[in-house]
Amino acid sequence: MKSLQLLIKPASSLCDLKCKYCFYHDLATHQALSPKIMSVETLELTIKRASEYFANAPKDEPSYLSILFQGGEPTLAGLDYFKQAIAFQKQYFAHLPQVQISNAIQTNGCKLDDELVSFLVTNDFFFGISLDGPKALHDAMRIHRNGSGSYDEVRAGITKLQKFGAQFNVLCVLTDLNALNIKSVYEHFKELGFYNHQYIACLEPFERLGQHSKEQPLFLSEQAYSQFLINIFDLWYQDLMEQGTYISIRHIENYLALLLNMSINSCNMTGVCQIQNVVESSGKIYPCDFFAHDDYELGNLTDHDFEYLQTNSKARTFIEQSHQLPNDCQHCPYLSLCRNGCYRERLNGKNIHCAAFKAFFAARLDKLKQAAAHLARMNS
Ligand code: SF4
Ligand code: SF4
Repeated sequence: MKSLQLLIKPASSLCDLKCKYCFYHDLATHQALSPKIMSVETLELTIKRASEYFANAPKDEPSYLSILFQGGEPTLAGLDYFKQAIAFQKQYFAHLPQVQISNAIQTNGCKLDDELVSFLVTNDFFFGISLDGPKALHDAMRIHRNGSGSYDEVRAGITKLQKFGAQFNVLCVLTDLNALNIKSVYEHFKELGFYNHQYIACLEPFERLGQHSKEQPLFLSEQAYSQFLINIFDLWYQDLMEQGTYISIRHIENYLALLLNMSINSCNMTGVCQIQNVVESSGKIYPCDFFAHDDYELGNLTDHDFEYLQTNSKARTFIEQSHQLPNDCQHCPYLSLCRNGCYRERLNGKNIHCAAFKAFFAARLDKLKQAAAHLARMNS
């Protein structure tokens, strides 16, 4: 089976919001070219290069191309951009019917008009909506340049997605603020009809990794993160065991899969980086969205194909550096589930959230195993 994953940034790091914790402003300062909307030529080249990658894919078994449009804010590229993306997919993959293409878009949800949503739904896009909780929690972080909150627009966007029957999940960025109030966040998402949640720790800028302080509660303290991990698990567990309701929560699902010896696809939980083929609007390729930084550039689509870009020496070095495992981890009882987490969150080789992971596993590993056994029984 041949597969290729692309993370395309149609509008680079441009965004109509200026969320307080956004790391793209930080990353953009590490790129030589200023952000801009991707040209039609670069979009066409991206899809053409992707089709070349599958040129020798076996005809008698499926292959997979998975594309996530992300930002900044990808909807700023406009409806025509997405129409062209689909047109190029049809054109360049017409002779490759064995390649199944999936499209997804991660959006702040503020600029979803009827025409855009209708087109994307018609073309089977999956939507990820960035929402940090109820209005007060969301608006404390996800703001416009003038400081006003964006919650009302996101809610209008969600209503639009529901009107058109879109498939979507919610991506919640954790800071101390919402991590310590996770019950209200979780309940709010359920009220809105979200049964597929993803919670990610707010990413600290490179230069202040692991320096959380009470004066800067923008990011995530160990105490808040461990409370979050325990409390969200308890909420999820209660829904599953007492109500029979299954809420899909990405990191819990991955723990369950690991306990059940199933494969997982989140590199931040396998402990080893993967090349994600981040396609910048300029056509430059980076290994990971967290490393869209000139020091990590793998090359440019104008000069190279994906085969080369994924396997060149810079790509290999990027992956190899994530293999290093500190002594603590090697002797840790939770290594098989934790695996030292995401490489971007490591300081001197060790994950900055180690204490939170340990607190969670010490408190809830038994229940996690019970839940895994319960789900395995239900599915047998
Ligand atoms: S830095 Fe994290 S998200 Fe990026 S490839 Fe490595 S493990 Fe995955
Ligand atoms: S809990 Fe800490 S020591 Fe254990 S594997 Fe994770 S990061 Fe390493």
